[in-house]
Formats: sequence, C-alpha cells, structure tokens
Amino acid sequence: MIPFNIPPYVGTELGFVEQAAAANRKISGDGMFTKLCSEWLEERFGARRMLLTTSGTTALEMAAILCDLNPGDEVILPSYTFSTTATAFVLVGARLVFVDVRSDTMCIDETKIEEAITDKTRVIVPVHYAGVACEMDSIMDIARRYGLLVVEDAAQGVMSTYKGRHLGTIGDFGCYSFHETKNYSMGEGGAISVNRSEHVERAEIIREKGTNRSRFFRGQVDKYTWVDYGSSYLPSDMNAAYLWAQLQVADEINDNRLTTWGIYSRELKPLADAGLVSLPTIPESCQHNAHMFYLKCRDLKERTELIDFLKARNIFPAFHYVPLHSSPAGLRFGRAVGSMRVTDADSDRLVRLPLYYDMPKDDALFVSEAVKEYYGQR
Ligand SMILES: *Cc1c(COP(=O)(O)O)cnc(C)c1O
Repeated sequence: MIPFNIPPYVGTELGFVEQAAAANRKISGDGMFTKLCSEWLEERFGARRMLLTTSGTTALEMAAILCDLNPGDEVILPSYTFSTTATAFVLVGARLVFVDVRSDTMCIDETKIEEAITDKTRVIVPVHYAGVACEMDSIMDIARRYGLLVVEDAAQGVMSTYKGRHLGTIGDFGCYSFHETKNYSMGEGGAISVNRSEHVERAEIIREKGTNRSRFFRGQVDKYTWVDYGSSYLPSDMNAAYLWAQLQVADEINDNRLTTWGIYSRELKPLADAGLVSLPTIPESCQHNAHMFYLKCRDLKERTELIDFLKARNIFPAFHYVPLHSSPAGLRFGRAVGSMRVTDADSDRLVRLPLYYDMPKDDALFVSEAVKEYYGQR
C-alpha cells in the first residue's frame, strides 16, 4: 500500500519530547524547545521575529488581528486555497475578494489583483501553493502603490525561497504550518513571521492572551496586565520538541523530498510531452521545497478514472481544494472579481501523488509506472 502521506518522523523526536516532559519539566508554551525552534527559524529564514503558534490556521488568525481591519474592509485572496486562509479574515469582520490563479503554478494571478482593488481593500493574501512562490515582486509593488498589507500564506512553503528570500519573510506577515501533512511537523502547530519591527510587540501580546507578559519576562515592565486583543496561541513545548528534531535535519528532509519529486518529474515528463497531462511549473525565481507533486488530467472524468485506477493498485492519490468563491461560506462572506476560469477548470483536473519524507524510491517509480500504464504509455 502506498498512502498519500506519512507524517515525517526522523527518530530523534521522542528523545526531545521526553526531555521537555521529564527533564525540563516544562510542557506549557515558550519553553526551551519553542525558543530553539523560533531562533532557528529566524536565523535560517532571515526573519525579524518568528513566533510558534498552535497551527497554521492560528498563525493566519494572528496575522488577521494584526492587520487591524474594520468591519467591511476587503481582503484579496485566491479562491483556490484552504478554508482557513479565508476564515482567519472572516473572523475579524473582513469581506473576501477572490481572484483567479495562474494555471502554471496554481498561485494567485498577480495580473488580476489590481482590478479587484477598491477603496475598502486593505490586505493581499498570496498563497504559495505546493511550496512554489507567488510572483512576489509584482505583489509587493501593488501593495506599496495602494498602501496595502501583505500576509503570505506560506503554510506549504517552509524552506522555499523567492529570489533567494525565504517565503513568509517578504510581506508584512508570513504564516507557516507544521501540521502532520506538511514538510516539517509538530503534530498540530505553526508559526508566524513578523517582518516589520512595528508589529513585533503587538504580535507577542496577541499571542499571550492579550497581555504584555513577554515584556514582563524581559524585565521591561514590573507586572503584566491585559492590554489588547488576544487569545492563546502558544503551542506546548512538547510539540516544539518534536519539531526541533526535524529542524535539525531540515536540509536532509528537504533534499529527500526533492529527490522523490524529481523522480516523478522525470518519469512523467513523457506524458506531458505527449500532451496527455500537465505538470507543475517551477518559475526561475523560485527554489521550491517539494511539498507536493501534482499532475493535471484533461478533465474531471479522466481524473476520477485515474484515481480509481491507482486505488485499485493500492496507491492513494488525492485531489485538492474545492474553490472557495462558489462554496456556501464563500458566497456568504465574499465575492469573485473577474473570471475564475483556471480555478474552476483546474481544481477539477488536479491530482496529487503520494509524497512524503523517506518515501522509498521504488514506490515513487511504482506510482509513476502506474500513471503511465493508465495512459497506455508503459
Ligand atoms: C495547511 C494549510 C493551512 C492550515 O494549516 P494548519 O496547521 O492545518 O492549521 C492554511 N493554508 C494552507 C495553504 C495550508 O496548506
């Protein structure tokens, strides 16, 4: 059986979890491992301030609060994304404005953003789909010209770069996920990269139940009190300990995934050359992290057949997002601007192949052969 995903496990996780629980006696948030992880991320990604959160979703929620929106303010995002890219902003009263994605990367189509801007627009949310960068120079240029904030949904983009800069560190805020389906995991968890110094202190307050507890621990105030909006966004140090094990071998995990991705890319290229499927494009500007390998069938019927064909061989692929703009909540909380042609057509055609850390090479070859067999190209 070849499952779609197996959560990453490198072997040193439980030792660190035990250290947090039995030696450090520190299992709530912001212990030694949380500190190690956030400092590692800051240094490696060149981030101003990195704060671990309980999920990618709560990192997005923190970013949405930090954007300081008023009810009715508008947020531009792709329709082809995970629900919580949207829910985070709905929770702070924003209206959603959906635009189409580019067919080559499935990232927001930067040429469609400007026509979606109104005098209510406050934020653009690029989603780095499959760990492949959105066209950030264009997006940052639009944001600058219209005075908008940029929240990068880099949930899938840990370790990827755009023109040498780590995804999540380019906009005002970057949100990462360490869910078990992502490249690096702490079970449930995430992080927010706070990229402008003027937002750092408020981010710490929001994460710490609306109190200035972080300033208290640094000796900057002599008691801590409730000062702002907030919630509890600190993950347990046991979860951070699990993540720490994986960050220590981050390059090895990245290289391992890229090798598997490379096998799919090489083996399936003949199908793309024959016009039977389309494969992902990695722009020159991007070094990706092999978060996902997908292909696009010609239509929904073919995709359904291919998935059934693979399942019959004990291979478990997965399709992906159902567009948000036409979903029940998407209709209620937002509107689409411009054609949604790529989102509508390609979401029906896209299928993700199994890809996880330490996937045997032979399994990737077996999956590739099965796909080729379906297309009669073996
Ligand atoms: C996984 C993911 C999220 C949510 O992350 P969680 O850690 O599962 O809450 C948000 N956006 C995108 C694009 C994701 O892939």
